[in-house]
Amino acid sequence: MTDAFAKCQLPPEAESLTSLRLYPFYRPVAERFGDGEVLVEGRRVLMAGSNDYLALAEHPRVKEAGVGALRRLGAGNSGSRVLNGTLALHEELEAELARFLGHEAAMVVTTGYQANLALAPLFGPRDVLYADRHAHASLIEAARLGGSPLRRFRHNDVAHLGEMLAADDPELGRLIVTEGMFSVTGDLCDLPAIAGLATAHGARLIVDSAHDLGLLGATGQGAGEQLGHQDTIDVQTLTFSKCLGTTGGAVAGPARIIGYLRHRARAALFSASLPAACAAAALASLRIVREEPERRRRVLEHARRLRDGLAGHGFTLPPGDTPTVPIEIGDPVTCCRFWTALLEEGVLANAMLPPAVPEGRSLIRVSVTAAHTEAQVDRLLEALATVADRLGPIAGRPGAVAR
Ligand code: PMP
Repeated sequence: MTDAFAKCQLPPEAESLTSLRLYPFYRPVAERFGDGEVLVEGRRVLMAGSNDYLALAEHPRVKEAGVGALRRLGAGNSGSRVLNGTLALHEELEAELARFLGHEAAMVVTTGYQANLALAPLFGPRDVLYADRHAHASLIEAARLGGSPLRRFRHNDVAHLGEMLAADDPELGRLIVTEGMFSVTGDLCDLPAIAGLATAHGARLIVDSAHDLGLLGATGQGAGEQLGHQDTIDVQTLTFSKCLGTTGGAVAGPARIIGYLRHRARAALFSASLPAACAAAALASLRIVREEPERRRRVLEHARRLRDGLAGHGFTLPPGDTPTVPIEIGDPVTCCRFWTALLEEGVLANAMLPPAVPEGRSLIRVSVTAAHTEAQVDRLLEALATVADRLGPIAGRPGAVAR
């Protein structure tokens, strides 16, 4: 007889990274100081791995809104949206999100991951789903759940997408899924070209704006607005865990689609709704996104400073001007050495290893936020350059010589 639990071993990579004292995951943050720094393993370090780009998780109005809602409505809703778990606050947030983004309606769910899973009923067996190869795991999971055939086009490769669309039976429903700003590489989708293909092939266009909501575009609607194509997006998925500084997610789009998902999306139907504190915090953040565009400007200026500085130190980066910056390393052990050395230099970054990235493409992802000062951005830059000098050539800085 085989014990079903026999397979449950720590992955060998995790074992060996631990024995080398290079394991970069699950490192607890003990305190957050609200100034771009956190306490990790007894040391105050620069947080360079957060997606709280506008620093709203620490904004007094956002925290007050959360605390007020917690006091008034309790710590949780103990039920799903469809039964007892819908709050008037959820509906208020949905109406504001839809209005802000120019969609007819929105449905608030408990995480961004769940928002993408909630798309599954749109991806039926008589449809074909075309997803960018870098699209988030939750979008791919939704395709599996929905049962539609899945075609992965090369990252932002519109010609490849075009070939795929042309090759498939035009009688099948078509949906194109991509991210507005890509979560790992920080670049933007080629929305103008993709929207053109969607129109030409009668395909529906779904954009995950997890990272760009609140950050990009003149008013913060996201990559769609920045690229002048917000109105070509049929359905937009959102998370509140980046620019809105809390937790939660939403799907926004035509009222008929949102109504359909409300009755079909099992990921939302069978799960408890978003706690009041998070809904109220998201609502307060959304208002600050509208009222304080200078936060967007500040973080984008930091991004420029970091990217220019890295280029000056000989790093090659993928094109882009967003605050998420990938430093390509190559193999996972070197990547973890880089990550550990950065922590020793007082910087907490993100190590992205397979399967989050393709084999051989491990990278360090750093991000800056509106909480940082210019001096902190310069410190981050210095730490990256120092560690890269020490470790020698990496994929993102092939010409370097180890010191
Ligand atoms: N989509 C993308 C592109 C993301 O980066 C993330 C978060 N890593 C999600 C969805 C999931 O969002 P959440 O963390 O709110 O579940």
